Amino acid sequence: MFTKSSKLLREIKKLFPDILAISHDIHQRPELGNQEYYARERITGYLARMGWRIEKNIASLPTAFVAYRGNRSGPCLGYVAEYDALPEIGHGCGHNLICAASVGAAVALSRVVADLPGEIRILGTPAEETTGGKVAMLQKGFFNDLSAVMMFHPGVSNVVNFGSLALEALEIVFHGKMGHAAVDYAARGDTLEALLQFFFWVKGWKKTLPELCQVQGIIKDGGSVPNIRPAKTVARFYLRAPDEETLDGLVLRFREEACKIAQFTGTKVEINTFENRYQPFKSNETLAKVFVQTLRRLNVNCSSKHCQGTGSMDMGNVSHLLPAIHPYLTLEGGPGMLHTAEFARAAGGKWGDDLLLLAVQALALTGLEVMTNEGLRKRIREEHQQKESPKGLTISL
Ligand SMILES: [Zn+2]
Repeated sequence: MFTKSSKLLREIKKLFPDILAISHDIHQRPELGNQEYYARERITGYLARMGWRIEKNIASLPTAFVAYRGNRSGPCLGYVAEYDALPEIGHGCGHNLICAASVGAAVALSRVVADLPGEIRILGTPAEETTGGKVAMLQKGFFNDLSAVMMFHPGVSNVVNFGSLALEALEIVFHGKMGHAAVDYAARGDTLEALLQFFFWVKGWKKTLPELCQVQGIIKDGGSVPNIRPAKTVARFYLRAPDEETLDGLVLRFREEACKIAQFTGTKVEINTFENRYQPFKSNETLAKVFVQTLRRLNVNCSSKHCQGTGSMDMGNVSHLLPAIHPYLTLEGGPGMLHTAEFARAAGGKWGDDLLLLAVQALALTGLEVMTNEGLRKRIREEHQQKESPKGLTISL
């Protein structure tokens, strides 16, 4: 094992300039979810040159891909690559580092374990910030047969054993009567009035919610000019809860109140989901511990204690079907909060470059353990099966 680890670290050193270039190039060309054509081509072009088999245009997602190396006769290990950016601030979530780290780890590992039976797979999963590409890819079976799946995310602290919240994305539309705002002001069917009443209700409702439950909303269409009463108004909300049962309760209450307000204001209300539902992320603790031990070998101190986050992610859906980890890593002198312009700058600068090297090493060394240690794979699978009963999906040992 020691020899293979050293060989792996040497391989990473050799490959790293190419991996760094992928990170920088994608950072300089930020693309929103489902529009990440440059990122997809930049990554798959590199992987094709390295001899990987690639599938594109999958799961009705134009910018998704899957890359394979090896064969299915042994353990299969998945690395997730996210590459979407945010409006206005570009790579403020550092997804250029995520995809580069997964590609670097997978390619280095494939070169060290090339003689072993088994498969390494890179899953190019678009639109993490919006529609959640992983959900469609899961449904179409692209995660099937994996012993485990992993990625890293740049963050504000080192948190390996992480949990996220379930999320429902709801769009609410009030339909009513268009009219002259100065003449018809007392008439029923005022959609803006209905929407504002709903927002006021949400403001009070939020204060009564149990711990870790959240509601956030924005007005998407509140009319065009002040002297026309809009025929419809539209708002979008994210509802979050620590588990899906609680989330279902929130959704029900949300719908009930919207119907009440519609009745009261003489409007009609329509409520639909506008993005995939995200399940809460459940870290595989056995795999998380291996990642923590790997970090320690790389002289990074980190605990394997569970930490409950307040965000949501489509890796949550993956973790319900497969053993998965989603560690957050940082380095001294980090830029602070994600989704800021400072974070975007750091993700393309020296801090991001140094973090990328650590992430590639930690992901690759952890992957080496998974690929070569049958007992570990068995423990990972047993933990997963005790927690979940996967539906229609196979896990390979
Ligand atoms: Zn992110």
